[in-house]
Amino acid sequence: MTELIRHWIAGGAQQGDPQRTGDVFDPATGQVTKQVAFATESDVDTAVTAAAEALTTWRRTSLARRSAVLFAFRELLNQRKSELAEIITAEHGKVLSDAAGEVQRGLENVEYACGIPALLQGGFSENASTRVDVHSVRQPVGVVGVISPFNFPAMVPLWFVPNAIACGNTVVLKPSEKDPSAAVFLARLWQEAGLPDGVFNVVHGDKVAVDALLAHPTVRAVSFVGSTPVARYVYETATGHGKRVQALGGAKNHMVVLPDADLDLAADAAVSAGFGSAGERCMAVSAVVAVDPVGDELVAKIAERMAKLHVGDGRRGCDMGPLVTAAHRDRVSSYVDAGVNAGAKLVVDGRDLQVDGQPNGFWLGPTLFDHVSTDMSIYTDEIFGPVLSVLRVPSYDAAIEVLHGNPYGNGTAIFTQNGGAARRFCEEVEVGMVGVNVPIPVPVSYYSFGGWKDSLFGDAHAYGPDGIRFYTRTKVVTTRWPDPSQGGVNLGFPQNT
Ligand code: NAD
Repeated sequence: MTELIRHWIAGGAQQGDPQRTGDVFDPATGQVTKQVAFATESDVDTAVTAAAEALTTWRRTSLARRSAVLFAFRELLNQRKSELAEIITAEHGKVLSDAAGEVQRGLENVEYACGIPALLQGGFSENASTRVDVHSVRQPVGVVGVISPFNFPAMVPLWFVPNAIACGNTVVLKPSEKDPSAAVFLARLWQEAGLPDGVFNVVHGDKVAVDALLAHPTVRAVSFVGSTPVARYVYETATGHGKRVQALGGAKNHMVVLPDADLDLAADAAVSAGFGSAGERCMAVSAVVAVDPVGDELVAKIAERMAKLHVGDGRRGCDMGPLVTAAHRDRVSSYVDAGVNAGAKLVVDGRDLQVDGQPNGFWLGPTLFDHVSTDMSIYTDEIFGPVLSVLRVPSYDAAIEVLHGNPYGNGTAIFTQNGGAARRFCEEVEVGMVGVNVPIPVPVSYYSFGGWKDSLFGDAHAYGPDGIRFYTRTKVVTTRWPDPSQGGVNLGFPQNT
């Protein structure tokens, strides 16, 4: 019997009604290591009800008490981050150092939320009218649903949950069914940090659980991260049920290399950002746009670096681990076949990779295509694997045309030594997050994270100032405490005097 990963509701592990369960794999061995309970609609209702009950007290809990819980959670997470990294590697497959980096970026968002007393400060206008004062407050929206993807099982929940809780909301998280243990680990840490039971709940599962959250009348806001078709569906469904929604979708991130770029720096960046986490990052670089004449030299430098990458079990000091599931590995591999059939030049082929001692792991080696054109599926689709495509263009303007023809607008980067060109790029490119000689420009926690176009549905980006706005409703109070001698009836429309 393998262990069953249970939901976390009202401060304890709950099995719910496990009519269905899913397999959780160790991607490096290909073995099923655990089962995860899939929530029914009724399990989701139990979790939302627990969150609604906890809300009545938590939303009135003082800012001092809330920030004390956040500081305690920050300390615990910091102490136990290597344990959490091991959990991530065991179910996702990314190498341990990368998993530790994910936790560290998540921690930054906890630290941001520790400043909640300052972040929630309202405004006050004395004597807006004579002896009439006006002030504004930010109040929690209520029960928040968070739905997260497989590729960052700790960091993406940490983009949302600390800010939502700090603002006085309660949360039901539905993590990816592929690597669900990190969410339960976080739930136990919140409890240890003193968070009252029911403020943070976890339900596992698939579309059934997601749909139940999207339709539940008590859930007032939904934060989603995942692929574009599901993000669009979540946005349309949950807004149709009257909820506030931010739904972050997929990506095709371009790295533009201008002729004056430092090509060693650019090649290092392309390899790091293309193959880190086996390309399973929404900010991974998947398309390098080489402006003539740098193509030949750049491709040679990238291939030279790729030859030195060591792929293997993420617990054994490798550069790159396996893909998350066999099905995903096969899907990515089929894109490599499609690229070859479409006529792209396959410079490095990762399809035949063997890893010593682990023949059943979900392996696919780093793969490089050159002379890719914008009509090929390896370019048009988000592959989400270790496949890097190089497109060659004659000019900066042609590079911009490629980027603007792509439906995604998550992240991009330009490599150049020309400040004027970089500035022009930052101003005109239709992408939400831009790097200048920085390949993965994930904003720090006190800015907000989000793409444009098909990479985000909704008005609010994730975390940072947008996160605080998303998880609160503003209220404006107009007050008069008249001097007792100033009374009297006046049926006229109120005017400012
Ligand atoms: P996914 O869309 O398959 O799943 C995301 C979540 O939605 C999971 O919790 C899953 O259980 C649920 N889900 C899946 N199919 C559903 C359906 N039909 N109806 C309702 N819910 C459904 O995404 P994934 O494979 O877990 O993650 C990879 C994707 O996430 C990539 O496209 C990647 O670019 C994207 N991503 C985007 C960002 C960002 O910030 N924009 C960050 C990380 C990942």
